[in-house]
Order: sequence, then structure tokens, then C-alpha cells
Amino acid sequence: MKTLRDIPKIDKFLNHKLFPSQNALLTSIAQKRIAKLREDMLAKKIEDFDEDILVQEVLKAYTQSFESSLKPLINATGVILHTNMGRSVISKEVLNKASKVICGYSNLEYNQEAGCRGERYEHVSEHLKTLLHVEDVLVVNNNASAVFLILNTFAKDKEAIVSRGELVEIGGSFRIPEVMKQSGAILHEVGATNKTKKADYANAINENTVMLMKVHQSNFSIEGFSETTSYEDIKELCEANQLLDYYDLGSGYIPELPYNLGNNEPSLPTILKNNPSLISFSGDKLFGSAQAGIIAGRKELIEKLKKNQLLRMLRVDKITLSILEETIKAYLQEKFELIPTLWLLQRDIKELKKRATSVRNKIGKDKCEIIETKTFMGGGTLPNREFPTIAISIKGKATILEKKFRQNNLIGRIENDKFLIDFRSILPDTEEDIVKICQKVI
Ligand SMILES: *Cc1c(COP(=O)(O)O)cnc(C)c1O
Repeated sequence: MKTLRDIPKIDKFLNHKLFPSQNALLTSIAQKRIAKLREDMLAKKIEDFDEDILVQEVLKAYTQSFESSLKPLINATGVILHTNMGRSVISKEVLNKASKVICGYSNLEYNQEAGCRGERYEHVSEHLKTLLHVEDVLVVNNNASAVFLILNTFAKDKEAIVSRGELVEIGGSFRIPEVMKQSGAILHEVGATNKTKKADYANAINENTVMLMKVHQSNFSIEGFSETTSYEDIKELCEANQLLDYYDLGSGYIPELPYNLGNNEPSLPTILKNNPSLISFSGDKLFGSAQAGIIAGRKELIEKLKKNQLLRMLRVDKITLSILEETIKAYLQEKFELIPTLWLLQRDIKELKKRATSVRNKIGKDKCEIIETKTFMGGGTLPNREFPTIAISIKGKATILEKKFRQNNLIGRIENDKFLIDFRSILPDTEEDIVKICQKVI
């Protein structure tokens, strides 16, 4: 039985030999613990305490506070572009090359030839222009910024016409109508949710119209009695009325996608054949690089974007630029193995089965089985397009297994009351860890 008078004084408590030399963080943690002790004793929740245990508790909290909050997880959901788990994965090779710039001084804004200030946006632009066959490009923080910058530059206090079927909300509360409002552009909605015709756009054009905007229906699709206006038709209307055409692609991709995934969704090269005035897409969706917003189109328009003061707030860091430059070089050399998003998508069923079988043999054949099933790309791309995958189905109650695996940093998925470890999104260098986690959990 102890009294309030036995509660250690903070200075004396901190002198305990197990504590490191005093610092602000340790003091703060110790103060909170002692205050809690006083509170509990006053409330008669406890009547006794052991100072050595208090010391251990404070030390544990102190050590834990230095553990990283961001930590690696194994994505066994089968969803390659998992927005909650960091979207595109960057290959170690790309990061290694980029690290030379990131970890030292560089010519980020230095023109070495002339010995004067240079342009940060130049570094990726030559290669990117070659890759996309466009007049000019600009890279900003993410595609949301790209949409905002374009609308603010060209459609502030003016009208941009958009189909009602394309007023999308992307995960994380990015809503096209809201972004347009914030940018100062006036949204002129046309058509119905399921149908927007060329004539709807044509009839809406008035003296305040500056732009026809098309937005990719990233994470949903409208089926059945529906109709959208093609980009070609929008472009044609723009040319006839001297308006700007802008296509927010959401996610742009370059090489052909396997499993006919590109059927409803044209590739960047296909869209760019129409010579759009401006397009934008994410750097970390199907493009498979760092978070960025990539804008491409006519040079005189990109020049105007560069003059907008907002660009200073949306500008990209050297970390993004150097990773993006390495990804673009990988594209130009068709080294798709350096772009994990594409690499994972391109794996065939036979190969996935082989890898899954090898893992299954190590876990024990009695504990699980291999199944062939379907998955989605995720990340607001290729809506409703499923494609084949291979998973290990673990025997046992799915909800319990899901939780246990999650606590061990492996995020799987539940399908038909079975817990699945889906190989579509599994990086080969995590397979050993998967075996270890399975051996621990089941
Ligand atoms: C994903 C997406 C955005 C937002 O892109 P971020 O790079 O996540 O900012 C904007 N528009 C569309 C159509 C999208 O699919």
C-alpha cells in the first residue's frame, strides 16, 4: 500500500540508471506517466505501484516513439495499384540511379554550360517529349494539381463544359466539380448521367466558353443505355469554335495492356495521335512512377501554365524529378522490368502458379490450396475490368486469418469466405517473408 507522497519526484525519477541522459522527449513521456499514476491513485484505481515497472514502461514508450510510422507492408490483395498502400512501387534500380541526385548536390536549377540559374522542369522534358511525341510537357505535384493549374490558367471566371457523366469523385475526396470551383472556373454541365452527345456540347457553347473538358471515368463505368462523346468529336468542336480541348486522363499508359484491358480505354499513344491541346495524367497510376501530374500538349499553352504563379506552389521536388527521369528512360529503352506496376501486370498465370506453388510447398500443402481467380487493377484505373490471377487460399476462418495476417504486416483479401494471398500484387523479393509469416500465423 502506497500513498500520494510515495510518487517519485520527476527529477529524481529521471536519474534512474537505466534511463539515457535526459532529453525533452524522455522528460515529457516520464511526466505524463507520473501524472497518470497520480490521477489513478487519486481516483483510487490503484493503491500500489512498483518504481522499476514505471521505469520499464517509460523506456518502452521512449523506444517506440522512435520507430518509423511509415513501414513496409506486403500487398497480397491482388490489387496492383493500391491507393492505400502507396500506389506505384518504385524499383530499387530506379531508386539507386535517382539516389545519386537525391543524396547530393545537383544541377536541379543550375545551367552548368552557362554557369547560371537553370530550369528545374527541363530535366525530364526532353525525354518525356520524345516518349509522348508532343510539343511540350510540364510536371507538377500530382494530377489533381494539374487539373487545378490548367483550369485556373485558362478557365478562371470563364466556362468549361463537362459531361454530367464525367463529374467524377476519385478516392480521397477529389471531386471534379469541387476542384473546378476552387480553381475559379465555371462548370457548365451538359448531357445526362448516362448520355452526352456531341450536340449537347455544341448547344452549350456560348461567348463565355473557353474550354471543352473530358474527364476519364476512372473508378466506375456506366453500362447499358449509355453514350459518351469521343475525344475526336470534342476536338472537332473545339477547332470549329476556337476553344481549348483538355482531356484529364487520370491514368495514362503506354505499352499495350495484357488481357485486353485496354479495350475500353485508349493508350496514351492512341490519344496523342489526335493532337490534343492539353492532356494530364498521374505519374503513379498506370504510368508506374513517382507521385506527379504530367501535363502534355501544345507549347504555347504549356508556356502559359509556366507563367502562372500557382506553379510555384505545385512544383515538384528533385526526388520526384529524378525518379521520373529514370522511369522515362526505362520506357524509352523498353525496360519494363524497371517499372514494377507494369511488370506485375504482365506476369502470366503459369508463372504466378509456379511462384505460388513454391510458397505453398514451404508452408505445407495441408494448410492451403492454390486457386485461379480474378482481380482488378485498382487506383482509379480500368474500372470493372477483371483479369486472371493466382492465389493461395488459406484454410480456416477468413476473418480471423485476415486480422492475424494484417497484424503481421501482410494484407490479403477475403473472397467467398476464404482468406487469399493473391500473387498478382506480390513482389518476388517478399516471398521469403510471406513463408515466415504463414509459418507463424497458421
Ligand atoms: C486519379 C485521378 C485524378 C487525381 O490524380 P492524382 O495524381 O491522384 O492527384 C484526377 N483525375 C482523374 C480522372 C483521375 O483518375
